[in-house]
Amino acid sequence: MRRDEVIEKLRQHGVAPSAQRLAVAEFVLLTDAHPSADQVFASVKRAFPMLSRATVYNTLNLFVEKGLLRQLVLAEGRVVFDPMTVAHHHFVDEQSGAIRDIPWEALRVSGVEGLSGVDVHEYQVVVRGRLEPGRRPRRKSRTS
Ligand SMILES: [Zn+2]
Repeated sequence: MRRDEVIEKLRQHGVAPSAQRLAVAEFVLLTDAHPSADQVFASVKRAFPMLSRATVYNTLNLFVEKGLLRQLVLAEGRVVFDPMTVAHHHFVDEQSGAIRDIPWEALRVSGVEGLSGVDVHEYQVVVRGRLEPGRRPRRKSRTS
């Protein structure tokens, strides 16, 4: 996504693209690393040293509120941001803590509709384990 496309995306979601918001957006909307707020702050601060932590946090909250980002709690005390707003699952590498997307179609979850006593508005699967070096989580091809 080029800078003018990021600006357009902010505008489409009702966010006025100030220089500070653009700096945050150019990092967080283009990464698939699922960063925490502190990681976003550390990364954006390199290019934008005058940016305050509060501004970054407020900007992330604004992006979530406007539907540009999803906020995920993938482990206790670990809140991360995800620019992929369509439904998908996640894999958490227990060694490195890295989070990878798993396409929605790669897993089949059944029984959600049959749950009683709850009004489900979304769900996702969080898979934990170890990522094989150089691999991304995908469905293994069937050989039988
Ligand atoms: Zn994701």
